[in-house]
Amino acid sequence: MRYNKIRKMDISNGPGVRVSIFMQGCAFKCYNCFNPETHDFNGGKEFTDETIDKIIDLASKDYIVGLSILGGEPMHPLNIEGTTKLAKRFKATYPNKTIWCWTGFLMDKDLMDKEVLKYIDVLVDGQYKDELHNFLLKYCGSSNQRIIDVAESLKANKVVLYDTEKIAV
Ligand code: SF4
Repeated sequence: MRYNKIRKMDISNGPGVRVSIFMQGCAFKCYNCFNPETHDFNGGKEFTDETIDKIIDLASKDYIVGLSILGGEPMHPLNIEGTTKLAKRFKATYPNKTIWCWTGFLMDKDLMDKEVLKYIDVLVDGQYKDELHNFLLKYCGSSNQRIIDVAESLKANKVVLYDTEKIAV
Protein backbone atom coordinates (compact mmCIF):
# COMPACT_ATOMS: atom_id res chain seq x y z
CA MET A 1 0.00 0.00 0.00
CA ARG A 2 1.04 3.60 -0.56
CA TYR A 3 0.39 7.06 0.84
CA ASN A 4 0.42 10.51 -0.73
CA LYS A 5 1.59 12.83 2.03
CA ILE A 6 1.83 13.53 5.74
CA ARG A 7 1.10 16.92 7.27
CA LYS A 8 2.90 17.62 10.55
CA MET A 9 0.45 20.30 11.71
CA ASP A 10 -2.95 20.27 10.03
CA ILE A 11 -5.67 22.68 11.14
CA SER A 12 -8.02 22.05 8.18
CA ASN A 13 -9.04 18.43 8.69
CA GLY A 14 -10.79 17.90 12.00
CA PRO A 15 -10.75 19.91 15.21
CA GLY A 16 -7.56 21.39 16.68
CA VAL A 17 -4.01 20.89 15.50
CA ARG A 18 -3.55 17.39 14.10
CA VAL A 19 -1.14 15.18 12.24
CA SER A 20 -2.73 14.02 9.00
CA ILE A 21 -1.96 11.37 6.44
CA PHE A 22 -3.44 11.11 2.96
CA MET A 23 -3.52 7.50 1.75
CA GLN A 24 -2.84 6.80 -1.93
CA GLY A 25 -5.43 5.20 -4.22
CA CYS A 26 -9.16 5.70 -4.65
CA ALA A 27 -11.48 3.91 -7.07
CA PHE A 28 -14.49 6.20 -6.56
CA LYS A 29 -13.18 9.10 -8.63
CA CYS A 30 -15.93 11.51 -7.51
CA TYR A 31 -16.51 14.39 -9.92
CA ASN A 32 -14.49 17.45 -8.78
CA CYS A 33 -12.71 15.47 -6.04
CA PHE A 34 -10.55 17.84 -3.97
CA ASN A 35 -7.57 15.49 -4.17
CA PRO A 36 -7.28 13.82 -7.61
CA GLU A 37 -3.53 13.25 -7.22
CA THR A 38 -4.39 10.58 -4.64
CA HIS A 39 -6.43 8.39 -7.06
CA ASP A 40 -3.62 6.35 -8.64
CA PHE A 41 -2.82 3.30 -6.51
CA ASN A 42 0.73 3.34 -7.90
CA GLY A 43 1.41 6.98 -7.00
CA GLY A 44 2.84 8.40 -3.80
CA LYS A 45 5.26 6.59 -1.53
CA GLU A 46 5.40 3.19 0.08
CA PHE A 47 3.58 2.95 3.43
CA THR A 48 5.80 1.04 5.87
CA ASP A 49 6.33 0.55 9.59
CA GLU A 50 8.67 3.55 9.40
CA THR A 51 5.74 5.65 8.15
CA ILE A 52 3.79 4.66 11.26
CA ASP A 53 6.84 5.42 13.47
CA LYS A 54 7.06 8.88 11.90
CA ILE A 55 3.40 9.63 12.62
CA ILE A 56 3.70 8.39 16.20
CA ASP A 57 6.72 10.63 16.67
CA LEU A 58 5.06 13.71 15.12
CA ALA A 59 1.98 13.23 17.30
CA SER A 60 4.01 13.18 20.54
CA LYS A 61 3.86 16.98 20.78
CA ASP A 62 1.39 18.21 23.42
CA TYR A 63 -0.34 20.57 20.96
CA ILE A 64 -1.26 17.70 18.63
CA VAL A 65 -4.78 16.62 19.60
CA GLY A 66 -5.13 13.75 17.18
CA LEU A 67 -4.63 12.05 13.84
CA SER A 68 -6.65 12.57 10.66
CA ILE A 69 -6.65 9.85 8.00
CA LEU A 70 -7.80 10.94 4.55
CA GLY A 71 -7.18 10.04 0.97
CA GLY A 72 -7.37 8.69 -1.44
CA GLU A 73 -9.38 5.95 0.18
CA PRO A 74 -8.14 4.64 3.54
CA MET A 75 -10.79 1.87 3.55
CA HIS A 76 -10.16 0.49 0.06
CA PRO A 77 -9.32 -3.25 0.28
CA LEU A 78 -5.72 -2.43 -0.76
CA ASN A 79 -5.37 0.17 2.01
CA ILE A 80 -7.50 -0.95 4.93
CA GLU A 81 -4.86 -3.24 6.44
CA GLY A 82 -2.33 -0.42 6.72
CA THR A 83 -4.98 2.00 7.95
CA THR A 84 -5.94 -0.51 10.66
CA LYS A 85 -2.32 -1.02 11.72
CA LEU A 86 -1.75 2.73 11.94
CA ALA A 87 -4.98 3.45 13.83
CA LYS A 88 -4.42 0.58 16.27
CA ARG A 89 -0.87 1.68 17.12
CA PHE A 90 -1.88 5.36 17.37
CA LYS A 91 -4.72 4.62 19.79
CA ALA A 92 -2.54 2.29 21.89
CA THR A 93 0.10 5.03 22.14
CA TYR A 94 -2.22 8.02 22.59
CA PRO A 95 -5.53 6.85 24.08
CA ASN A 96 -6.53 10.47 24.78
CA LYS A 97 -5.89 11.76 21.26
CA THR A 98 -8.63 11.32 18.68
CA ILE A 99 -8.62 9.68 15.27
CA TRP A 100 -10.81 11.17 12.55
CA CYS A 101 -11.07 9.32 9.25
CA TRP A 102 -12.67 10.21 5.90
CA THR A 103 -14.00 7.52 3.56
CA GLY A 104 -16.17 7.24 0.45
CA PHE A 105 -17.60 3.96 1.77
CA LEU A 106 -20.70 3.95 3.98
CA MET A 107 -20.20 2.85 7.56
CA ASP A 108 -23.44 0.86 7.95
CA LYS A 109 -23.34 -0.69 4.47
CA ASP A 110 -19.64 -1.44 4.04
CA LEU A 111 -17.63 -1.15 7.25
CA MET A 112 -19.61 -2.32 10.30
CA ASP A 113 -17.55 -5.54 10.66
CA LYS A 114 -14.12 -3.96 10.10
CA GLU A 115 -11.62 -4.03 12.97
CA VAL A 116 -10.42 -0.51 12.17
CA LEU A 117 -13.63 1.00 13.55
CA LYS A 118 -12.54 0.00 17.08
CA TYR A 119 -9.78 2.62 16.91
CA ILE A 120 -11.52 5.49 15.10
CA ASP A 121 -13.41 8.17 17.05
CA VAL A 122 -15.09 9.99 14.20
CA LEU A 123 -15.77 8.73 10.67
CA VAL A 124 -16.86 11.09 7.91
CA ASP A 125 -18.43 8.78 5.32
CA GLY A 126 -19.89 8.93 1.83
CA GLN A 127 -18.53 9.90 -1.57
CA TYR A 128 -18.24 13.57 -2.44
CA LYS A 129 -21.21 14.70 -4.56
CA ASP A 130 -20.47 17.90 -6.40
CA GLU A 131 -24.16 18.79 -6.85
CA LEU A 132 -24.52 18.71 -3.04
CA HIS A 133 -21.39 20.78 -2.40
CA ASN A 134 -21.74 23.42 0.30
CA PHE A 135 -18.70 25.44 1.35
CA LEU A 136 -20.36 26.24 4.70
CA LEU A 137 -20.19 22.60 5.78
CA LYS A 138 -17.61 21.88 8.44
CA TYR A 139 -15.46 18.76 8.06
CA CYS A 140 -17.10 17.56 4.82
CA GLY A 141 -17.61 18.77 1.27
CA SER A 142 -21.16 17.75 0.35
CA SER A 143 -24.35 17.50 2.38
CA ASN A 144 -24.78 13.72 1.83
CA GLN A 145 -21.65 13.04 3.89
CA ARG A 146 -22.16 12.10 7.53
CA ILE A 147 -20.03 12.89 10.59
CA ILE A 148 -20.37 9.74 12.66
CA ASP A 149 -19.67 8.95 16.32
CA VAL A 150 -18.10 5.54 15.80
CA ALA A 151 -18.16 4.21 19.39
CA GLU A 152 -21.83 5.15 19.84
CA SER A 153 -22.67 3.64 16.45
CA LEU A 154 -21.00 0.34 17.29
CA LYS A 155 -22.87 0.25 20.63
CA ALA A 156 -26.22 0.98 18.98
CA ASN A 157 -25.48 -1.15 15.88
CA LYS A 158 -26.65 1.73 13.71
CA VAL A 159 -25.22 5.04 12.59
CA VAL A 160 -25.20 7.67 15.35
CA LEU A 161 -24.14 11.13 14.19
CA TYR A 162 -21.37 12.92 16.04
CA ASP A 163 -22.42 15.94 18.06
CA THR A 164 -20.13 18.62 16.60
CA GLU A 165 -21.25 20.96 19.41
CA LYS A 166 -18.94 18.86 21.63
CA ILE A 167 -15.93 20.30 19.83
CA ALA A 168 -14.40 22.97 22.02
CA VAL A 169 -11.63 24.13 19.67
S1 SF4 B 1 -13.90 9.16 -2.26
FE1 SF4 B 1 -12.72 10.99 -1.64
S2 SF4 B 1 -10.68 10.76 -2.55
FE2 SF4 B 1 -12.04 9.28 -3.56
S3 SF4 B 1 -12.71 10.38 -5.40
FE3 SF4 B 1 -14.27 10.71 -3.82
S4 SF4 B 1 -13.69 12.66 -2.81
FE4 SF4 B 1 -11.90 11.93 -3.99
